[in-house]
Amino acid sequence: MTTNPFAIAQVQLDEAARLLHLDKDLHELLRQPLAEHHFRFPVLMDNGRVKVFSGFRVQYNDARGPCKGGIRFHPEETIDTVRALAAWMTWKTALVDIPLGGGKGGVICNPKELSRGELERVSRGYIRKIGHLIGPDIDVPAPDVYTTPEIMAWMMDEFETIQGHHAAGVITGKPIFLGGSLGRGDATARGGMFTIREAAKVMEIKLSGATVAIQGYGNAGMHAHHLIMEFFDAKVVAVSDSLGGIYCKKGLDPVAVQEYKAKHGSVVGFPGADPITNEALLELKVDILLPSAIENVITAHNAHKIKAKIVGELANGPTDPEADVILHKNGVFVIPDFLCNAGGVTVSYFEQIQNANFDRWKIEVVHERLDETMTAAFKAVFDVRHDMNVHSRLAAYVVAVNRVAQACRTRGWALPCEEKPKQIRTPVLSI
Ligand code: GLU
Repeated sequence: MTTNPFAIAQVQLDEAARLLHLDKDLHELLRQPLAEHHFRFPVLMDNGRVKVFSGFRVQYNDARGPCKGGIRFHPEETIDTVRALAAWMTWKTALVDIPLGGGKGGVICNPKELSRGELERVSRGYIRKIGHLIGPDIDVPAPDVYTTPEIMAWMMDEFETIQGHHAAGVITGKPIFLGGSLGRGDATARGGMFTIREAAKVMEIKLSGATVAIQGYGNAGMHAHHLIMEFFDAKVVAVSDSLGGIYCKKGLDPVAVQEYKAKHGSVVGFPGADPITNEALLELKVDILLPSAIENVITAHNAHKIKAKIVGELANGPTDPEADVILHKNGVFVIPDFLCNAGGVTVSYFEQIQNANFDRWKIEVVHERLDETMTAAFKAVFDVRHDMNVHSRLAAYVVAVNRVAQACRTRGWALPCEEKPKQIRTPVLSI
């Protein structure tokens, strides 16, 4: 099985296309991005030299609305990763039924090796390259791996300077006082909690006192540590980051672990906990496993060793297609990435609405509407999972691809359905 994320994204789509009886031309249209941009840009470094960085922006599909998706700063960024992530954004926005398409961007760089000034110049340099390709009605970037609200602020400022007018809605995930939305910070993890709550209901799993392992301790993993305890009174027994993990049977305190990581750069060495590898963490006998880091961590090699009852994919692309089949067969309930982590883009969309209306929503409004949106998306997936007897990811694909396909047909980008279109139960959202 390939580890190329875009090849994986295409395999996943092919399966859904087959179930939906998508016509060949429309299937082809959805298999590739509509546009992709590759570029290089010079950045003045602190040592007085100029370094040339490579970047991408993929605008996968905008049939349902402006492209939407984050920008990653990562030393191992590749165009195929960005393509896959842009495809997943297309399915994600469709699944939560917000009027947006899918896109993604990336810069090959290691932010840990850049000074603050260099990071700002890379951020501004990237926007100088894509400024003419983005905008509130075209394509709206956001944070992703190793990009922050502060970076969003620099990017917005650069865009507005080029345009000569304010345009807060060009980017989301901004600091609150510059047009960001309340509740965007923990939105990915919080959205995931609503889906875990729904999954536990249908699986009849008691969440109070449930044990949890979290792989990855970035924005999603860190917030999930707090929220899963707050929501369900669950016990987080293991967490990890790229350097390794820690295990404590009694449970780990999120505030203490976060303070330790802030001071030491990693959770590794946290006092009172045993060391555990990232691989072993995935195989722990816990009720809930939250892969919250990177792609391809659950594959045919280890899927049969996963003992969790629920796998909530807060990361994008952690499970490959072979593993999906194994997990389903073993009765593991996977909440697929573009459902489980859709809370981030959902609150980004709320941010766009607030920016367009010069408005600010109360935190209670954000949380309530996020709950409504995530719950409706979960139900749509669960209905198809049940009706078609397929695994959750495939069910999510069927719902999402069906919606994007409908938009393409209605716009005249594809021929109308010859056969009676497949009847998919799709609840109407109240947002
Ligand atoms: N990067 C996040 C994701 O993968 C959020 C994207 C957004 O807010 O546009 O869903």
